[in-house]
Amino acid sequence: MEKVIGIDLGTFNSCVAVVEGGTPVVIANRGGYKTTPSMVAVTEAGKRLVGHIAKRQAVTNAENSVYAVKRLIGRKFNNPQVQAALKNVAYRIIEGPHNDPRIQLRDKVYSVPEISAMILQEMKMIAEDYLGQEVAKAVVTVPAYFNDGQRQATKDAGAIAGLDVIRIINEPTAAALAYGFGKNIDKTVAVYDLGGGTFDISIMEISSTGVFKVVSTAGDTFLGGEDFDQRVIDWLVAGFKDEHDIDLRQDRMALQRLKDAAEKAKCELSSVVETEVNLPFIISSARNEALHLQRLLTRSQLEELTEDLIKRTIEICEMTLEEAGLDKADIEEVVLVGGMTRVPRIQQEVAKFFGREPSKNVHPDEVVALGAAIQGAALLDEQQDMVLLDVTPHTLGIMVVGGYFEELIPQNSTVPTSRSKDFTTVRDNQTAVKILVMQGESKRAEENELLGEFILTGLRRAVAGQVEIEVTFEINADGIVSVHAKDKETGKEQSITVTSTSGLTKEELDHMITDAKDYAVARRDDEELEKAKQEATTLISEIQKLMPKVEEVVAGSDFGRDAMEKAKAVVDKAKTTMQQGDVKALREQIEALQRTQRMFKGVVGKVG
Ligand code: AMP
Repeated sequence: MEKVIGIDLGTFNSCVAVVEGGTPVVIANRGGYKTTPSMVAVTEAGKRLVGHIAKRQAVTNAENSVYAVKRLIGRKFNNPQVQAALKNVAYRIIEGPHNDPRIQLRDKVYSVPEISAMILQEMKMIAEDYLGQEVAKAVVTVPAYFNDGQRQATKDAGAIAGLDVIRIINEPTAAALAYGFGKNIDKTVAVYDLGGGTFDISIMEISSTGVFKVVSTAGDTFLGGEDFDQRVIDWLVAGFKDEHDIDLRQDRMALQRLKDAAEKAKCELSSVVETEVNLPFIISSARNEALHLQRLLTRSQLEELTEDLIKRTIEICEMTLEEAGLDKADIEEVVLVGGMTRVPRIQQEVAKFFGREPSKNVHPDEVVALGAAIQGAALLDEQQDMVLLDVTPHTLGIMVVGGYFEELIPQNSTVPTSRSKDFTTVRDNQTAVKILVMQGESKRAEENELLGEFILTGLRRAVAGQVEIEVTFEINADGIVSVHAKDKETGKEQSITVTSTSGLTKEELDHMITDAKDYAVARRDDEELEKAKQEATTLISEIQKLMPKVEEVVAGSDFGRDAMEKAKAVVDKAKTTMQQGDVKALREQIEALQRTQRMFKGVVGKVG
């Protein structure tokens, strides 16, 4: 039976889930972990590593270990936030051909969707291993505040990974879906989602009829756990500078170790009130002496260092409630999502703001993937009477005369939706209009984000204001925008689907899809070879253990000599084949080993 998986593609960790027999379950990776680090690395030998194994080697291979690409996806290279990331990460971000950030790992340059695709492909494989079947369809989650370009780029990543992303849903919406699934409740719920890289807050109405309606949503795509880690890093760096007059930032390896230590300390301080950051041999002094970093960090110090970050999330909550026209008292349940919501101070501040303790019923790391899986199953099974009504997080419109922004679809409109507005020419004999599609909340167009542009030509020559053009905006269920402009007189039309800001061309995308497919085949072959090698090794060791016993039984007989020689030859051949790395040949040798083992067991068994 066809399965749709739900993937929470996180900044730091990803999670995959599926609905089985009506129950959503999270799928553990091979190591038994239910979340997988969203990390990709390339080793010196050119091998790609994804997940825990990439994370484990990141300190010694910092320049070629990528994390937090979600912060870059769908953004332009000159975006201030990309520029900020440039300074803080140990891997190399360079400018791509479409003014997009690209990542250099060893001698190859990758687009951001390509890196995200490697993570998605890993999650797909985890699910395939578990389900024992190929998986082609997925629902992928994104922060509610992701704009159109970021959503498109995430879809591109899915396509590269060989996944048909049948729906993109917002993370808090997915969380609410998982929270409300099968509960038969009517409630207004606030989902506070603070993950590694992003913050989202959504107010939702859950109804017992199966309707999940988002009332309002807001967030900040550059506010998350990493900012908390950064505060700790800055504090450690400043302390070290005071003590030794050395800037640890100069050293990539030191920076990576600091990053790991800062995150670890932050996490520890969720359960203890003080922790020691201990980094021996962090750097050498000018006199070539090894220097160590050792500092005590208390929970209250951490709270002080990050107070403004927490405050910012609360301000956004306040704004969202206002947008929704609701009062704190209207919120009947608060659901916490994201690893950062384990921080006690955050739980306290959220509880204080909403005036109620948050729900303890959901697992903050797994709830989003579970919601995505539920939505995936519902899309596959049309019988399910579950309706998800999400909203658009940004106002959409076009630029008009004077550099103003004319709104077509206001923020927090339920999607899918479509709105039209009539415009006229502004100059005499104007035969073409340029439509600049934008999103944002400012009245001044230049302060908003340009999503795309197109030109409607062939207008009738007439006095300014006489030719009418109807502009229609449409947002589909994925939150992706398309725009049409129509000359009302001639019916002539032009339209665009706003493409990702990463702007990968069709050729580039096709090329990446082929690369990823080749990788999947090679990886499966590698895995099969590894499995066969293990099987052969076990058989050889068992045969070798049996050998002296067999020798004892058959000693002196021609049959015995013959059998022993044959057995030794089979073992030797299997060993050589293992080194050659040909799976098919090794499988044949495994069969020969199994025959030998059976024969040996028979001989020993007869006397034993
Ligand atoms: P997510 O994006 O939801 O996977 O959240 C990841 C973020 O949660 C990272 O910044 C982690 O450092 C942080 N995190 C995970 N566990 C804890 C914890 N026990 N205490 C504080 N932060 C945590």
